[in-house]
Amino acid sequence: MIVIKKRIGIPRSLLYYKYFPLWKTFLEELGVEIVLSDRTNSKIIDIGGRYAIDEICIPLKLYYGHVLNLLEKNIDYLFVPRYVSTTIGTYFCPKFLGLPDMVRGTIDNLPPIIEFEVNMQKRPMYLSAYKLGKVLHKSTWQIKKAYEKAIKDYKYFRQLMVDGLSFKKALNVLNSKNRNFKPKKKIIDYVAKIAIIGHGYNVHDSFINMNLINKLNKMKVNVVTLENLPLEIFKNQTVITNTLENYWGNEEEILSAVNYLFETKDIDGIIFICSFCCGPDSLIDEIMARDAKKLKIPYIGLVLDEHSGQAGVITRVEAFVDMIVRKKNNIRIIYKKPTMPIGIINKSEKEVGAEF
Ligand code: SF4
Repeated sequence: MIVIKKRIGIPRSLLYYKYFPLWKTFLEELGVEIVLSDRTNSKIIDIGGRYAIDEICIPLKLYYGHVLNLLEKNIDYLFVPRYVSTTIGTYFCPKFLGLPDMVRGTIDNLPPIIEFEVNMQKRPMYLSAYKLGKVLHKSTWQIKKAYEKAIKDYKYFRQLMVDGLSFKKALNVLNSKNRNFKPKKKIIDYVAKIAIIGHGYNVHDSFINMNLINKLNKMKVNVVTLENLPLEIFKNQTVITNTLENYWGNEEEILSAVNYLFETKDIDGIIFICSFCCGPDSLIDEIMARDAKKLKIPYIGLVLDEHSGQAGVITRVEAFVDMIVRKKNNIRIIYKKPTMPIGIINKSEKEVGAEF
Protein backbone atom coordinates (compact mmCIF):
# COMPACT_ATOMS: atom_id res chain seq x y z
CA MET A 1 0.00 0.00 0.00
CA ILE A 2 1.37 3.42 -0.92
CA VAL A 3 1.02 5.91 1.91
CA ILE A 4 0.73 9.46 0.66
CA LYS A 5 1.98 11.89 3.24
CA LYS A 6 0.02 15.03 3.89
CA ARG A 7 1.96 18.12 2.89
CA ILE A 8 1.78 20.82 5.55
CA GLY A 9 3.05 24.27 4.63
CA ILE A 10 4.90 26.26 7.30
CA PRO A 11 5.65 29.95 6.66
CA ARG A 12 9.33 30.72 7.28
CA SER A 13 8.39 33.74 9.33
CA LEU A 14 7.44 35.02 12.84
CA LEU A 15 7.70 32.21 15.42
CA TYR A 16 9.20 29.85 12.87
CA TYR A 17 12.42 31.38 14.23
CA LYS A 18 11.63 30.03 17.69
CA TYR A 19 9.46 26.94 17.59
CA PHE A 20 10.07 25.42 14.16
CA PRO A 21 12.59 22.84 15.50
CA LEU A 22 9.93 21.59 17.94
CA TRP A 23 7.06 21.33 15.43
CA LYS A 24 9.31 19.92 12.74
CA THR A 25 10.21 16.83 14.75
CA PHE A 26 6.68 16.49 16.12
CA LEU A 27 5.02 16.62 12.69
CA GLU A 28 7.61 14.43 10.98
CA GLU A 29 7.25 11.81 13.71
CA LEU A 30 3.52 11.83 12.97
CA GLY A 31 4.23 11.07 9.32
CA VAL A 32 3.64 14.52 7.87
CA GLU A 33 5.70 16.08 5.06
CA ILE A 34 6.75 19.62 5.86
CA VAL A 35 6.91 22.20 3.10
CA LEU A 36 8.65 25.46 3.97
CA SER A 37 8.19 28.76 2.20
CA ASP A 38 11.31 30.13 0.47
CA ARG A 39 13.75 32.25 2.42
CA THR A 40 12.63 35.87 2.58
CA ASN A 41 13.34 37.67 -0.68
CA SER A 42 12.21 40.90 -2.34
CA LYS A 43 9.27 39.18 -4.06
CA ILE A 44 7.96 37.89 -0.72
CA ILE A 45 8.25 41.36 0.83
CA ASP A 46 6.52 43.03 -2.14
CA ILE A 47 3.64 40.63 -2.37
CA GLY A 48 3.12 40.54 1.42
CA GLY A 49 3.08 44.34 1.52
CA ARG A 50 0.37 44.44 -1.13
CA TYR A 51 -1.94 42.31 1.01
CA ALA A 52 -1.35 44.11 4.31
CA ILE A 53 -2.54 47.47 5.50
CA ASP A 54 0.19 50.12 5.45
CA GLU A 55 0.30 50.67 9.21
CA ILE A 56 1.12 47.08 10.08
CA CYS A 57 4.62 45.97 11.15
CA ILE A 58 7.01 44.48 8.60
CA PRO A 59 7.11 40.97 10.21
CA LEU A 60 3.38 40.61 9.63
CA LYS A 61 3.62 41.83 6.03
CA LEU A 62 6.33 39.26 5.55
CA TYR A 63 4.14 36.55 7.06
CA TYR A 64 1.49 37.20 4.40
CA GLY A 65 4.22 37.05 1.74
CA HIS A 66 5.39 33.66 3.05
CA VAL A 67 1.83 32.30 3.09
CA LEU A 68 1.35 33.40 -0.52
CA ASN A 69 4.66 31.79 -1.44
CA LEU A 70 3.45 28.50 0.06
CA LEU A 71 0.29 28.59 -2.04
CA GLU A 72 2.51 27.99 -5.08
CA LYS A 73 3.85 24.76 -3.54
CA ASN A 74 0.86 22.47 -3.71
CA ILE A 75 0.25 22.06 0.02
CA ASP A 76 -2.66 20.21 1.66
CA TYR A 77 -2.75 22.28 4.85
CA LEU A 78 -1.37 25.55 6.14
CA PHE A 79 0.15 25.56 9.63
CA VAL A 80 -0.80 28.73 11.56
CA PRO A 81 -0.77 28.20 15.36
CA ARG A 82 -2.44 30.79 17.53
CA TYR A 83 0.26 31.76 20.01
CA VAL A 84 -1.20 33.44 23.07
CA SER A 85 1.40 32.86 25.76
CA THR A 86 4.44 30.65 26.24
CA THR A 87 5.59 32.00 29.62
CA ILE A 88 3.53 32.50 32.76
CA GLY A 89 2.54 36.15 33.21
CA THR A 90 3.22 37.34 29.65
CA TYR A 91 1.30 37.40 26.37
CA PHE A 92 2.20 37.72 22.72
CA CYS A 93 1.12 40.86 20.91
CA PRO A 94 -2.44 40.88 19.49
CA LYS A 95 -1.19 40.04 16.00
CA PHE A 96 -0.16 36.59 17.16
CA LEU A 97 -3.45 36.07 18.96
CA GLY A 98 -5.43 36.79 15.83
CA LEU A 99 -3.01 35.37 13.24
CA PRO A 100 -5.14 32.50 11.83
CA ASP A 101 -8.15 34.85 11.52
CA MET A 102 -6.10 37.60 9.91
CA VAL A 103 -4.62 35.19 7.35
CA ARG A 104 -8.05 33.76 6.61
CA GLY A 105 -9.59 37.21 6.30
CA THR A 106 -6.85 38.58 4.04
CA ILE A 107 -5.90 35.84 1.58
CA ASP A 108 -8.31 33.92 -0.68
CA ASN A 109 -8.11 30.32 -1.88
CA LEU A 110 -6.29 28.99 1.16
CA PRO A 111 -6.02 25.29 1.90
CA PRO A 112 -7.50 24.24 5.30
CA ILE A 113 -5.65 25.98 8.11
CA ILE A 114 -4.26 23.88 10.95
CA GLU A 115 -4.73 26.14 13.92
CA PHE A 116 -4.45 25.31 17.58
CA GLU A 117 -3.92 27.52 20.57
CA VAL A 118 -0.65 27.67 22.49
CA ASN A 119 -1.53 29.29 25.77
CA MET A 120 0.53 28.31 28.77
CA GLN A 121 -1.61 30.43 31.08
CA LYS A 122 -4.32 27.83 30.49
CA ARG A 123 -2.57 24.57 29.60
CA PRO A 124 0.97 23.17 29.29
CA MET A 125 2.54 22.91 25.84
CA TYR A 126 2.07 19.13 25.55
CA LEU A 127 -1.72 19.57 25.70
CA SER A 128 -1.53 21.99 22.76
CA ALA A 129 0.56 19.40 20.91
CA TYR A 130 -2.02 16.76 21.85
CA LYS A 131 -4.76 18.88 20.25
CA LEU A 132 -2.65 19.25 17.11
CA GLY A 133 -2.04 15.50 16.99
CA LYS A 134 -5.77 14.87 17.26
CA VAL A 135 -6.45 17.24 14.34
CA LEU A 136 -4.14 14.92 12.36
CA HIS A 137 -6.17 11.88 13.55
CA LYS A 138 -3.29 10.31 15.51
CA SER A 139 -3.63 8.07 18.55
CA THR A 140 -2.71 9.26 22.04
CA TRP A 141 0.24 6.86 22.06
CA GLN A 142 1.58 8.18 18.71
CA ILE A 143 1.21 11.77 19.90
CA LYS A 144 2.99 11.09 23.20
CA LYS A 145 5.91 9.39 21.45
CA ALA A 146 6.22 12.18 18.86
CA TYR A 147 6.07 14.90 21.51
CA GLU A 148 8.77 13.28 23.66
CA LYS A 149 11.06 13.10 20.65
CA ALA A 150 10.23 16.69 19.68
CA ILE A 151 11.07 18.02 23.15
CA LYS A 152 14.34 16.12 23.18
CA ASP A 153 15.29 17.56 19.78
CA TYR A 154 14.22 21.04 20.79
CA LYS A 155 16.38 20.94 23.92
CA TYR A 156 19.32 19.75 21.85
CA PHE A 157 18.73 22.53 19.33
CA ARG A 158 18.58 25.19 22.07
CA GLN A 159 21.76 23.86 23.66
CA LEU A 160 23.53 24.14 20.29
CA MET A 161 22.60 27.82 20.23
CA VAL A 162 23.69 28.32 23.85
CA ASP A 163 27.00 26.76 22.76
CA GLY A 164 27.34 29.55 20.21
CA LEU A 165 25.69 28.37 16.99
CA SER A 166 23.44 30.63 14.95
CA PHE A 167 19.80 29.65 14.31
CA LYS A 168 20.66 28.50 10.78
CA LYS A 169 23.68 26.41 11.80
CA ALA A 170 21.85 24.80 14.74
CA LEU A 171 19.00 23.88 12.39
CA ASN A 172 21.47 22.35 9.92
CA VAL A 173 22.89 20.18 12.73
CA LEU A 174 19.37 19.14 13.74
CA ASN A 175 18.55 18.22 10.14
CA SER A 176 21.76 16.17 9.86
CA LYS A 177 20.42 13.80 12.57
CA ASN A 178 23.83 13.89 14.27
CA ARG A 179 23.05 14.21 17.97
CA ASN A 180 26.67 14.18 19.18
CA PHE A 181 27.84 17.32 17.42
CA LYS A 182 29.89 19.64 19.65
CA PRO A 183 30.47 23.16 18.29
CA LYS A 184 34.15 24.09 18.23
CA LYS A 185 35.16 27.46 19.62
CA LYS A 186 36.87 29.49 16.88
CA ILE A 187 39.94 31.42 17.98
CA ILE A 188 39.58 34.74 16.23
CA ASP A 189 41.07 38.02 17.23
CA TYR A 190 37.82 39.96 17.59
CA VAL A 191 37.86 43.74 17.90
CA ALA A 192 34.66 43.84 19.97
CA LYS A 193 31.81 41.74 21.31
CA ILE A 194 28.36 43.06 20.41
CA ALA A 195 24.92 41.66 21.20
CA ILE A 196 22.24 41.84 18.53
CA ILE A 197 19.01 41.74 20.43
CA GLY A 198 15.46 41.60 19.10
CA HIS A 199 12.70 39.26 18.01
CA GLY A 200 14.02 36.09 16.40
CA TYR A 201 12.20 36.96 13.19
CA ASN A 202 14.18 40.19 12.90
CA VAL A 203 17.54 38.90 14.14
CA HIS A 204 17.71 35.58 12.25
CA ASP A 205 16.06 36.61 8.99
CA SER A 206 19.14 37.90 7.21
CA PHE A 207 17.16 39.49 4.37
CA ILE A 208 15.16 41.79 6.59
CA ASN A 209 18.15 42.78 8.75
CA MET A 210 20.37 43.26 5.69
CA ASN A 211 22.71 40.46 6.65
CA LEU A 212 23.82 42.37 9.72
CA ILE A 213 25.43 39.45 11.56
CA ASN A 214 27.64 38.57 8.59
CA LYS A 215 28.57 42.20 8.06
CA LEU A 216 29.59 42.53 11.72
CA ASN A 217 31.57 39.28 11.55
CA LYS A 218 33.44 40.67 8.55
CA MET A 219 34.32 43.68 10.71
CA LYS A 220 35.81 41.16 13.20
CA VAL A 221 32.99 41.65 15.68
CA ASN A 222 32.01 38.72 17.87
CA VAL A 223 28.20 38.72 17.66
CA VAL A 224 25.96 37.16 20.30
CA THR A 225 22.20 36.85 20.12
CA LEU A 226 19.87 36.21 23.03
CA GLU A 227 19.66 32.51 22.19
CA ASN A 228 23.41 32.23 22.84
CA LEU A 229 22.94 33.29 26.48
CA PRO A 230 22.45 30.82 29.38
CA LEU A 231 18.96 29.32 29.49
CA GLU A 232 18.52 29.98 33.25
CA ILE A 233 18.35 33.74 32.75
CA PHE A 234 14.96 33.41 31.05
CA LYS A 235 13.34 31.56 33.96
CA ASN A 236 12.46 34.49 36.22
CA GLN A 237 10.12 37.29 35.32
CA THR A 238 11.83 40.63 34.75
CA VAL A 239 11.23 43.64 36.98
CA ILE A 240 11.26 47.05 35.32
CA THR A 241 10.26 49.25 38.27
CA ASN A 242 8.00 48.79 41.32
CA THR A 243 5.11 50.16 39.34
CA LEU A 244 5.90 49.03 35.81
CA GLU A 245 5.51 45.42 34.81
CA ASN A 246 6.18 43.90 31.42
CA TYR A 247 3.51 41.59 30.09
CA TRP A 248 4.67 41.09 26.48
CA GLY A 249 6.10 37.66 25.71
CA ASN A 250 8.75 38.49 23.12
CA GLU A 251 9.85 41.56 25.04
CA GLU A 252 10.20 39.56 28.27
CA GLU A 253 12.87 37.49 26.61
CA ILE A 254 14.63 40.57 25.28
CA LEU A 255 14.57 42.32 28.66
CA SER A 256 15.92 39.21 30.43
CA ALA A 257 18.78 39.04 27.95
CA VAL A 258 19.62 42.73 28.21
CA ASN A 259 19.43 42.72 32.03
CA TYR A 260 21.86 39.81 32.05
CA LEU A 261 24.23 41.67 29.71
CA PHE A 262 23.96 44.81 31.85
CA GLU A 263 24.73 42.84 35.02
CA THR A 264 27.64 40.82 33.67
CA LYS A 265 28.96 43.65 31.50
CA ASP A 266 30.40 40.90 29.32
CA ILE A 267 29.66 42.97 26.23
CA ASP A 268 31.06 46.02 24.45
CA GLY A 269 27.79 47.20 22.99
CA ILE A 270 24.19 46.31 22.20
CA ILE A 271 22.28 46.70 18.94
CA PHE A 272 18.52 46.41 19.34
CA ILE A 273 16.70 45.56 16.12
CA CYS A 274 13.07 46.55 16.23
CA SER A 275 10.26 46.74 13.73
CA PHE A 276 8.70 49.98 12.62
CA CYS A 277 5.14 50.20 14.02
CA CYS A 278 5.80 47.72 16.84
CA GLY A 279 4.30 49.13 20.04
CA PRO A 280 5.93 46.70 22.52
CA ASP A 281 9.37 47.18 20.91
CA SER A 282 9.20 50.96 21.05
CA LEU A 283 8.40 50.82 24.78
CA ILE A 284 11.31 48.60 25.73
CA ASP A 285 13.67 50.45 23.41
CA GLU A 286 13.24 53.52 25.64
CA ILE A 287 13.81 51.50 28.82
CA MET A 288 16.91 49.75 27.52
CA ALA A 289 18.42 52.93 26.06
CA ARG A 290 17.95 54.71 29.40
CA ASP A 291 19.58 51.89 31.41
CA ALA A 292 22.43 51.49 28.93
CA LYS A 293 23.17 55.20 29.21
CA LYS A 294 23.31 54.98 33.02
CA LEU A 295 25.70 52.03 32.81
CA LYS A 296 27.71 53.64 30.00
CA ILE A 297 27.18 50.64 27.74
CA PRO A 298 27.04 51.71 24.07
CA TYR A 299 23.57 51.03 22.64
CA ILE A 300 21.69 51.74 19.43
CA GLY A 301 18.21 50.86 18.29
CA LEU A 302 17.78 50.09 14.59
CA VAL A 303 14.22 50.44 13.37
CA LEU A 304 13.56 48.30 10.32
CA ASP A 305 10.85 48.44 7.71
CA GLU A 306 10.65 47.47 4.06
CA HIS A 307 11.96 50.91 3.06
CA SER A 308 15.04 50.88 5.32
CA GLY A 309 17.99 51.84 3.17
CA GLN A 310 20.89 49.43 3.43
CA ALA A 311 23.48 52.22 3.20
CA GLY A 312 22.00 54.22 6.07
CA VAL A 313 21.73 51.23 8.41
CA ILE A 314 25.22 49.95 7.65
CA THR A 315 26.76 53.42 8.06
CA ARG A 316 25.20 53.70 11.53
CA VAL A 317 26.44 50.25 12.50
CA GLU A 318 29.94 50.96 11.20
CA ALA A 319 30.06 54.20 13.16
CA PHE A 320 28.83 52.35 16.25
CA VAL A 321 31.54 49.69 15.95
CA ASP A 322 34.15 52.34 15.29
CA MET A 323 33.11 54.22 18.42
CA ILE A 324 33.30 51.03 20.52
CA VAL A 325 36.75 50.14 19.23
CA ARG A 326 38.03 53.64 19.94
CA LYS A 327 36.50 53.51 23.43
CA LYS A 328 38.11 50.14 24.12
CA ASN A 329 41.47 51.37 22.93
CA ASN A 330 41.09 54.65 24.78
CA ILE A 331 41.35 56.67 21.62
CA ARG A 332 39.79 60.07 22.03
CA ILE A 333 38.29 61.79 19.05
CA ILE A 334 39.36 65.36 18.75
CA TYR A 335 36.90 67.45 16.84
CA LYS A 336 38.42 70.12 14.69
CA LYS A 337 36.66 73.38 14.18
CA PRO A 338 35.00 73.25 10.77
CA THR A 339 37.14 74.92 8.18
CA MET A 340 34.41 74.94 5.57
CA PRO A 341 31.85 77.67 5.10
CA ILE A 342 29.02 77.85 7.66
CA GLY A 343 26.11 75.62 6.68
CA ILE A 344 28.19 72.75 5.34
CA ILE A 345 28.78 69.93 7.80
CA ASN A 346 31.44 67.28 7.46
CA LYS A 347 29.07 64.29 7.31
CA SER A 348 31.43 61.62 8.61
CA GLU A 349 32.33 63.64 11.74
CA LYS A 350 28.69 64.36 12.47
CA GLU A 351 27.69 60.70 12.20
CA VAL A 352 30.48 59.50 14.48
CA GLY A 353 29.67 62.18 17.02
CA ALA A 354 25.99 61.27 17.00
CA GLU A 355 26.73 57.90 18.53
CA PHE A 356 28.21 59.29 21.79
S1 SF4 B 1 5.49 42.05 18.49
FE1 SF4 B 1 5.75 43.88 17.26
S2 SF4 B 1 6.90 43.18 15.45
FE2 SF4 B 1 6.05 41.37 16.44
S3 SF4 B 1 4.11 41.02 15.37
FE3 SF4 B 1 3.66 42.25 17.22
S4 SF4 B 1 3.71 44.39 16.50
FE4 SF4 B 1 4.71 43.11 14.94
